[in-house]
Amino acid sequence: MAKPAARLAPEKLGPTITVGEILVEVMATTTGFGFKEAQSLYGPFPSGAPAIFIDQVARLGGAAGIIASVGNDDFGALNVERLQNDGVDTSAISVSTDRPTGSAFVRYRDDGSRDFIFNIIHSAAGAIELSTQAKVLIARAGHVHVMGSAFAIPGADVAIRTAIEAVHQRGGSVSFDPNVRKELLGSGNLRQQFEYMLRNADLLLPSGEELFVAAGTENEAAAITRLQDLGIDEIVLKRGKDGATYFGAAGARYDFHGFIVEEVDPTGAGDAFGATYLTSRRQGLGPEVSLERAAAAGARNVTLQGPMTGLPNIAELDAFIASTPRRTK
Ligand code: ATP
Ligand code: MG
Repeated sequence: MAKPAARLAPEKLGPTITVGEILVEVMATTTGFGFKEAQSLYGPFPSGAPAIFIDQVARLGGAAGIIASVGNDDFGALNVERLQNDGVDTSAISVSTDRPTGSAFVRYRDDGSRDFIFNIIHSAAGAIELSTQAKVLIARAGHVHVMGSAFAIPGADVAIRTAIEAVHQRGGSVSFDPNVRKELLGSGNLRQQFEYMLRNADLLLPSGEELFVAAGTENEAAAITRLQDLGIDEIVLKRGKDGATYFGAAGARYDFHGFIVEEVDPTGAGDAFGATYLTSRRQGLGPEVSLERAAAAGARNVTLQGPMTGLPNIAELDAFIASTPRRTK
């Protein structure tokens, strides 16, 4: 069904929901190349892009729920407890009896690039299904947020499409963070899933080259125009430490040049940013102030180790905005 005219459904329509991987993250405490020798590790931290996103929604007071799967183990419990404590509806997180919770080991190199060891699709995270509880959550949702990373999970696709169709039908809205590397797009039916999302998204949250991949052109202005022509009224481009830009209908544009912080751990910045932008908009704030709040959540999150450690509540977000210097261009 076609997208309704009203975009970004208000909070009162129902919770923001997402579908996808819940993981623990374990970090090397030193920089270097990978994991071939014994070394000290720090973790587990609760993680997974959809989980980080939905936790941030709830911390800001937005109604929130997630369709996911964890193992019957401490890694699963630590994630579910974290989400529950922050107010996320965890009723649609299934507990696998035969697969452990997913994990990601990460080590930074000196140049800032990262080596990963992922255990996702063969973990409990790979066992996501459109369960009865998932259907119940979908039936009352007001907004669906999709992380491109979730498409790597075979069962997530059906849950995502079901949620999008149901939510659009009741006048709700959809956002999409491609969150995917260019190299992955050629594989399987990822390109098709990507195109489905572009046809259905009311808000697009790309970072860096994801914009060009989405639009099929390497010129920023041309890429924005092409995506707007597809009917995406609201595009917010993430630019790392340089902040972010909002592109709206009829040429509307706001640039936020970024808060000045010391980066300790960049993982999760994009997820915190997207959740804060969306939740601020659903709470009735305009795009310009939502952009500033989102940039603040992203910047604050990189100052602390652990992908969810720096996710602010409203008071912490306001304090950060009031006290942190910003770039002027
Ligand atoms: P992720 O690695 O989580 O996928 P992303 O590429 O989706 O991240 P980024 O652009 O890295 O997203 O970060 C999102 C937002 O957070 C940025 O647009 C910016 O506003 C803020 N941010 C990120 N890193 C920094 C930083 N080092 N200093 C200040 N602000 C930052
Ligand atoms: Mg991202």
